[in-house]
Amino acid sequence: MRRTDTCGGLRSSDIGRRACLQGWVRFSRDHGGVAFVDLADRYGITQVVFDPEDTAEADVDRIAGVMGTFARESAVSVEGIVRRRVEGTDDARNPTGEVELLVTDAVLLNRSASPPFEIGDQKEGVLPNEDTRMRYRYLDLRRTEMVGALAFRSRVVHLMRQYLERNSFLEVETPMLGRSTPEGARDYVVPSRRHPGKFYALPQSPQLFKQMLMVGGIDRYYQIARCFRDEDSRKDRQPEFTQIDMEMSFVDTEDILGTVEGMIAAVWEGLYGTELETPFPRIGYREAIERFGSDKPDMRYGLEFVKLTEVVRDAPYEIFKRIIGAGGIVAGINLGDRSSEVGRNEVDRYIQFAKDKAKLGGLTWMRCEDGVLTSNIAKYFTPGILEGIKQALKAEEGDLVFLIAGPWKATYEGGGILRRRIAEDLGLVPDDVFQFSWLVDCPMFEVDPVSGKHDAFHHPFVLPEGDIDAKDVGGACFDICLNGNELGSGSLRIHDAGLQRAVLKKIGMSDEEIERDFGWFIEALGYGAPPHGGIAMGVDRLIAILLGRDTIRDVIAFPKNKKAVSLLDNSPERIDDGKLEELQLLSLAADGLDLGDFDIDE
Ligand code: ASP
Repeated sequence: MRRTDTCGGLRSSDIGRRACLQGWVRFSRDHGGVAFVDLADRYGITQVVFDPEDTAEADVDRIAGVMGTFARESAVSVEGIVRRRVEGTDDARNPTGEVELLVTDAVLLNRSASPPFEIGDQKEGVLPNEDTRMRYRYLDLRRTEMVGALAFRSRVVHLMRQYLERNSFLEVETPMLGRSTPEGARDYVVPSRRHPGKFYALPQSPQLFKQMLMVGGIDRYYQIARCFRDEDSRKDRQPEFTQIDMEMSFVDTEDILGTVEGMIAAVWEGLYGTELETPFPRIGYREAIERFGSDKPDMRYGLEFVKLTEVVRDAPYEIFKRIIGAGGIVAGINLGDRSSEVGRNEVDRYIQFAKDKAKLGGLTWMRCEDGVLTSNIAKYFTPGILEGIKQALKAEEGDLVFLIAGPWKATYEGGGILRRRIAEDLGLVPDDVFQFSWLVDCPMFEVDPVSGKHDAFHHPFVLPEGDIDAKDVGGACFDICLNGNELGSGSLRIHDAGLQRAVLKKIGMSDEEIERDFGWFIEALGYGAPPHGGIAMGVDRLIAILLGRDTIRDVIAFPKNKKAVSLLDNSPERIDDGKLEELQLLSLAADGLDLGDFDIDE
């Protein structure tokens, strides 16, 4: 028997012809000797019927015998005639729902053990827990939802490739075994057998190699790149994840942003057949923090912060005075026409939330009543200042406003967490709107306020936008954001060897360390490296957001769980002493070599 059709393909136009389907027994039931099987594969589900009345007498016992062995999730093959379903039993939700296959022959291809969970089209609530799904991922993958996610992912990547190939990009693979590429996380390392005590690092990103491709004249590169970062798992993080990684020569920032916008618009067109509005809004880093309380602003709804520091500077309110005196800020947010939905109890809950979850020192509220802002602390403000706050926040009768105060970044970021919470509670976050944006005008360095130590804001290969010794020097880097998530970041890169050395020095590396870790890279820049720049965007994250999935684990075929364990193959796993000895790790450890992350005693 050879498969002629998939389980999603038969329609009423096929009625009367023979077909052979092969797939898995999703459900089976017996109605007084008439057997029904829902036969499933990645394409759909078809109803298969065995009816002794409609079967040649000589075949009845044999077919009945075979179908009696059709345990759930067994792989089977059935041959028969496509016929219209009995009137009134059509399934309008199923594209094959008008027809059924009347069996004339059946074969059990491979019997399934009793599955640990039912593979239906379960809604969230009745899914088995995630660990069980991961332990039996091959069964989880048979669910329509998982198949759909992988098919969607494949389509998105295909559309990206198509666009990039059309635009002269070359797909080039860069090494998995290499030196560390700093992206701010720990490395996964691989011990070298031939060079005992030495390790490769799996790439945190192809950053340095893609820059080498630019020095090598490749000009426009892309790769669907697997990246490895040893950081604590979160719902949108995995130890290994996929980026669409790109780099271009002889470009400025707008060229890169425009290329990415073109690519996403092409994906949109391919997926939904609609035009995505470009260019995406650009917002400066400071402005994003001050308006949305986040460097990945969610612009799908209002509730923006307004700076009030100057308005309240002279208020005789001790707490604000102290904060402003120490260089902090005061800002407010107006709940506007949704204010009446937030009563005294809810206000108290937000005050608690602000403390516990948003790490805000405090949260002040005021309500506009009889034309003035009133609250338990209104007495500490002069009428003029209250009027100033009211105007700055455009507060109208009945409006509720919250005020936050404290150090610039932490306070706005805490405010951002609160803003999101309020928006979710009030149902202001539309889940069918996809709002892309660019975060631009970022700083070059992050400076520790106590030690003064400089760290790269993005990474140390970003082109500074001025004298690196000047205060607040910017970096030519940008992030692409979608609905309050960072999808990816990119930048123009340093192509001058001397400047690269100086930036690495600025972030605290000694000449020796620079030479040891990046000497090869800086040397390459010295051979006429072109001005260049690029970006990397998280594919898993993009797919999860577009599909409205809560975690990237749901769009990755074989993810690790929250503890970075693969429950399917049980990795990571100890390796036996023989293998450790082959790598000379045991003797090197005995000699006192610091094996760092490679804890052989575990
Ligand atoms: N390496 C990326 C870049 O192109 C950024 C990243 O991987 O997060 O700048």
